[in-house]
Amino acid sequence: MSDPRPQFPRGTILGYPRIGRRRELKRAVEAHWSGATDVQTLERAAAELRRATRERLAALGLGRDDSSIPESFSFYDQVHDAAVAVGALPERFGARRGDDGRIGLDAYFAAARGAGDDAPLEMTKWFDTNYHYLVPEIGPETAFAMSCDRFARQVAEARADGFTVRPVLVGPVTLLALSKATDAAPAGFDPLSRLDDLLPVYVELLEGLRAAGAEWVQLDEPALVSESLPATTAQLADAAARAYEVLGAATGRPSLLVAAPYAQLSDAAWAALGAAPIEAIAVDLTRGGVPAAVGGLAGKTLVGGVVDGRNVWRGDLEAAWGRLSDLAALGAGSVAAATSTSLQHVPHDVDDESALDPRLASWLAFADQKVGQVVTLATGLAEGRAAIEDALMEASVALAARRSSPGVRDGAVRARTAGLVDADFDRGAYGTRVEAQDAQLALPLLPTTTIGSFPQTDEIRRARARHGRGELGAAEYERFLRDEIARVVTLQEDLGLDVLVHGEAERNDMVQYFAEHLDGFAVTENGWVQSYGSRATRPSILWGDVSRPAPITVAWSTFAQSLTDKPMKGMLTGPVTILAWSFVRDDQPLSETANQVALALRDEIADLEDAGIRVIQVDEPALRELLPLAVADQPAYLAWSVASFRLATAGAAPATQVHTHLCYSEFDVVIDAIAALDADVTSIEAARSRGEVIGDIASSGFAAGIGPGVYDIHSPRVPSVDEISELLDRAVAELPLRRVWVNPDCGLKTRGYGETVTSLRNLVEATRAARTRVPA
Ligand code: GLN
Ligand code: ZN
Repeated sequence: MSDPRPQFPRGTILGYPRIGRRRELKRAVEAHWSGATDVQTLERAAAELRRATRERLAALGLGRDDSSIPESFSFYDQVHDAAVAVGALPERFGARRGDDGRIGLDAYFAAARGAGDDAPLEMTKWFDTNYHYLVPEIGPETAFAMSCDRFARQVAEARADGFTVRPVLVGPVTLLALSKATDAAPAGFDPLSRLDDLLPVYVELLEGLRAAGAEWVQLDEPALVSESLPATTAQLADAAARAYEVLGAATGRPSLLVAAPYAQLSDAAWAALGAAPIEAIAVDLTRGGVPAAVGGLAGKTLVGGVVDGRNVWRGDLEAAWGRLSDLAALGAGSVAAATSTSLQHVPHDVDDESALDPRLASWLAFADQKVGQVVTLATGLAEGRAAIEDALMEASVALAARRSSPGVRDGAVRARTAGLVDADFDRGAYGTRVEAQDAQLALPLLPTTTIGSFPQTDEIRRARARHGRGELGAAEYERFLRDEIARVVTLQEDLGLDVLVHGEAERNDMVQYFAEHLDGFAVTENGWVQSYGSRATRPSILWGDVSRPAPITVAWSTFAQSLTDKPMKGMLTGPVTILAWSFVRDDQPLSETANQVALALRDEIADLEDAGIRVIQVDEPALRELLPLAVADQPAYLAWSVASFRLATAGAAPATQVHTHLCYSEFDVVIDAIAALDADVTSIEAARSRGEVIGDIASSGFAAGIGPGVYDIHSPRVPSVDEISELLDRAVAELPLRRVWVNPDCGLKTRGYGETVTSLRNLVEATRAARTRVPA
């Protein structure tokens, strides 16, 4: 390359939340989806949001014209953005392309959300985060071509406002590595085999971005850190070597930053990127270290992801500075400071939380505070450590204050976890328990139950909101909920279900509800984080030692039990899921925090038992999603996560039936862990895959109670009796007959009553018929 390339800025962030400080994007897209606004109105709202973001980032100290501001907006999902840009739109949405083959917003949203009979793209978890991306479908027939110039338009839009931004795109290796084969593809087809066909389109994309005014482009390649993809680490590193050889050789391209967030870059990928003709490499130094030596770095910038993009803590700035020094030792041309990942995983701004305890607030850093930390470190890199000595000191003082603050360490809680012995994790032999439970519960063969929640109607949401605003008094709200519970119990009795639930109408969210009732947690007002598309969650903050000031669910469960002679299931969220869906303290091992939560749940279970509840379900839908990306880290994770579940449940009497529920059907690496949870009954998702998982369970030798879901609750479709019977017959044929349960895939809270009642009626009818077909 003859023209001198622009310097990489000294500090940057890999991406910024795009939902808006007050979820403006959610409101704008949902208004558009409902037909209330036209596409121009939506585009204007999005442009305004992008403008506000750039101005905000400049005000926080990132440069207007040095490419330190990332352009990381997305209407729905960044993987879908890249797929659409290169024309990877499934055939079934092809008719929605423009005459010139372009993919407009209408086709983009149709593929994201489905349209009529055309199923949407599948959605799945983005690495080990709670964000979900749309899985591109790629086959031998996929015709890659520039199909959307949205990225370039945004660069030009920024340019017109005086900004030189750095557009962020999912890179070609990650795009393919995360894709699935189209239905039309032959068996065993690997989307990554299309890399050579895809690269010319990326070249074109890059040239378009340069022409629009981008000096740097960031290509995100987190696939290079993952050991949990179909492609091996070596295959991914090879693909990266090929991809960046080609992209690097492109003539009119911007400078290239290849970013590898979320875990440690493999040595092979380090070598591939070091050797590639690119200008900068970003690595996640909060989740991995620096190798001893890497070739080819002399002319490159190494961007150290030292400010954690995944948690909400102000953290240890001094340690971050130290990691930058380690990085500098690798001998790159220069070093820059950055966040470890995009900030899309954290809320916008601690200053938006006026109700938080100021002490807690002073320990926190949301996106805007993390930008400030990066700017501080960048100043240190530019001017020397002395220039930021005060800021480092201030951060260390805050950290020390946090460590010694009341509530962070609670002597009674610590004494309890310190005193745990093996027996606290062990419920005794399953065989003994089963006998006691069978005698006490006297359930029919193939017992029927549901997963916990019943439809959360508008009426329930309205009542909760009114109660929150103080318009509905405590007594009235309680009466409302009791009426709701009574209705749900009567309905289940009428339907003829065997083990009943109270319906969870009192819960806004299965984790936040518990967080609100436990010490050691705080909840935010505006701490929204994108989960997928227009959906956002508001994770609670687990900041201190956890304990349970008072029983949480006991009154609801006992009331529900008082209405029926059938067993009523107590309903709790498990320790792993509570951790997975909260922002968790970073000052002690997760295992310690998990055990504290487990002990609080253990007390709740004891109280439920004392109140006469004989079946208790502890949901762990997040067990699989916290699984570390690095294979080497998985056994330790599975050990502590399983242990915390066992600690929560092992106090239950043998005659108390402990259920658990998991919300997915990939049992692969976690099957042994699920067995080790040692629950008496496990319900799992199975309907969408037409019971495929039943075979996996059977061959694993799983011997306890098991309820493979026979009703896919993710869609309003009512499963027919025949369909359910087919799944039941399969379960009965392959699993120990006396251990098979009949239940839906998951909770019913997102469903309407109409389809729920018919579906459950079919479920009961199919079960009754199945009972007559099996030997008594
Ligand atoms: N008990 C919860 C419910 O029914 C379980 C939800 C889940 O698995 N995500 O809603
Ligand atoms: Zn579920």
